[in-house]
Amino acid sequence: MPDGEHKRGVAKCRSCSSVFAVDIWGDGTVRPIGRQDCDCGANEFQLIGNLDEAIIQDSETPDHS
Ligand SMILES: [Zn+2]
Repeated sequence: MPDGEHKRGVAKCRSCSSVFAVDIWGDGTVRPIGRQDCDCGANEFQLIGNLDEAIIQDSETPDHS
């Protein structure tokens, strides 16, 4: 698929620490893929790594096995 002007990474919400896969835009904007904000309503995210290096913990499918 086309990768355009942005990279992919992993970031966590500055408010509730939920972790998302994110798009990283050329101007430094970090935005969760497919959404505008965190579930908690915050829209500031701390970049924590590259998508290739990280294990995504999807908050909607917690691993309790
Ligand atoms: Zn949040």
